[in-house]
Amino acid sequence: MNKHKLANLPTRIDRLKQPPTQVRLWIKRDDQTGTELMGNKVRKLEYSLQEALDRGADTVITCGGIQSNHARATAAACAQLGLYCLLLLKEDAETKNTGNYFLDQLFGAEIVWVPAEVYENSLDELCLSHAGRLEKLGHTAYIMPIGASNGIGTFGYFEAYQEILAQEQELGVTFDTIVTTVGSGGTYAGLCFANLKAGNPKKIVGIPVAKDAAYFEEVIRSLWQEFTAYLPMEAELAPQHIHMLDGWAGRGYALNEPEDFTFIREFARAEGIVLDNVYTGKAMRGLYASLEENHPVLQGAKDLLFIHTGGMLGLFGKEVHLQD
Ligand SMILES: *Cc1c(COP(=O)(O)O)cnc(C)c1O
Repeated sequence: MNKHKLANLPTRIDRLKQPPTQVRLWIKRDDQTGTELMGNKVRKLEYSLQEALDRGADTVITCGGIQSNHARATAAACAQLGLYCLLLLKEDAETKNTGNYFLDQLFGAEIVWVPAEVYENSLDELCLSHAGRLEKLGHTAYIMPIGASNGIGTFGYFEAYQEILAQEQELGVTFDTIVTTVGSGGTYAGLCFANLKAGNPKKIVGIPVAKDAAYFEEVIRSLWQEFTAYLPMEAELAPQHIHMLDGWAGRGYALNEPEDFTFIREFARAEGIVLDNVYTGKAMRGLYASLEENHPVLQGAKDLLFIHTGGMLGLFGKEVHLQD
């Protein structure tokens, strides 16, 4: 599959100093895929923006929450490629002009605020109507779903799996388990499908940060349909290929408990690594607790690799929660 190179790859893999149990816990620094483009979304954008260019698009339409890492990465990449960027952002009462949202504007993206109810129920129609409006003005729009999690975006982490295999050789280690947070599902799906293609040597574990495992098993299955339309596979995706650690979404997407912030603060001091409050903080907290209680999904794991998917800019605006 063709991609447009945007990310700093490969990203480094380091070993955590103070894991909660005897396990060897490694972290892949996909928060370092770039500066403007930091985080996991750029790996998907490399593929989806190439598809946009191949289709002759001059405009990209995508969506997200106000502090969406995906929206910011798309705005940055569009500015780099000379594409017009339209962001449909979910209205937010606590709008603070900081972090990702601040950068969206710096990159010159056009922002349309979408009321929560429309965002939940008729976002697809809204994207189409904006595409139609822009097409009347002579533009060609490419609509990218939330998180660039579609068939083509899934190639980002399908490829990252190969990068991890090469790094195993260099480091002299075999990761038996790869752990990632699950937001829109594309990161998990890419790793899971690559693992399936490789004969399923590893356990790919997802930690949902919204909704629950049952919901995401459906999402992964539908991404499988879209993905295999691009790349037919001999293997069949079955329920035993999908492993989820449920129960760490808390009150829901982007909503935190005080314990999340305490964990992020303690982790920063113990490891010198900043996690975010929406994804990696919740997931790492869930991973630590699950290791401590010897959760069945993690039993027998010796070398675990956690994907740090980024998100640091989302902490801006949350400073008061992170102070001692
Ligand atoms: C979007 C995002 C995720 C979730 O990735 P999906 O592929 O959407 O599941 C995880 N971490 C961060 C920081 C993100 O921005």
